[in-house]
This record gives sequence, structure tokens and C-alpha cells, in this order.
Amino acid sequence: MGGWGRRLMLIDPAGKVLPCHAAGVIPGIEFESVSNHSLEWIWRESSAFRRFRGEEWMPEPCRSCERRTEDFGGCRCQAFLLTGNAEATDPACSLAPAHSIVEAAVREANSGAAASSQPVSSSLPSQFNQQATALWEYRLNPE
Ligand code: SF4
Repeated sequence: MGGWGRRLMLIDPAGKVLPCHAAGVIPGIEFESVSNHSLEWIWRESSAFRRFRGEEWMPEPCRSCERRTEDFGGCRCQAFLLTGNAEATDPACSLAPAHSIVEAAVREANSGAAASSQPVSSSLPSQFNQQATALWEYRLNPE
């Protein structure tokens, strides 16, 4: 996505404006509607689009990382779904404190445990499951 509120805005069928397709999974953020505000105001002024824009919100190790202006700390939605904290460093990053969640998921997937007809969420580490199951259903082969 290239950073929250940097390149993309999308409008859902109800008129709600989001900075990415999955942003609605993050609790506590009010996404404004085109029924109530202009797109320019939503982009520039809304608290939702400003929430993770730039670098001020970043924790360490992102705050002092030389790559922070390239990936902006990774995906906020992924961070929330994997750790329960939308401000966390994206666990996909090897420097993230919670990177072990992704490493465990990769190990398990490569062991063949995920190669079944079950939803992927049922075979991933329990910490991931607790956060994600109620919000997403990951499937290997959606039908
Ligand atoms: S996600 Fe990783 S690479 Fe990106 S800014 Fe944070 S610590 Fe640096």
C-alpha cells in the first residue's frame, strides 16, 4: 500500500472512505463517509487518514529504522490482525518484536500442516488464530 494515507483511498458501497481495503478491521477508528464530507477533507483532515500517516506514530524499531520512509512500518491491518496492536511493527519484518508469529506460520505451512482443505486460520499459530479468526477467514482455495 506504500504507507497509510499516502497513495490510496477507496470508497465502500456504503460511502465509507478507507485508506486500504482491510482498514475496517482496526477497532477505534472512525472512517468518514462521502455523504458527510468531501474527499479532499477526508484525505487531508480526517483523523482516520491521519492516524498512521507519516512517522510520528511509529514505535521502535521502526522509528529509528533507515527504511521507515520506504515501507512506513509495514501494514497496519496485518500488524493488528497478527498482534492485536495496530501500532506494532508489522510482524512480517525480520526486525519486528513479533516476527516469531510469522516465522512460526511459515514453518507450519512448509511442514505441510496447512495443505489440507481446512481454512488456513485453523492451522496457524494460536496467537494468530485468536486475533484473526473472528475477523477473517483465510482459505487456501476459496470457492
Ligand atoms: S517494518 Fe522493519 S524495515 Fe520497515 S521501518 Fe519498521 S523496522 Fe524498518
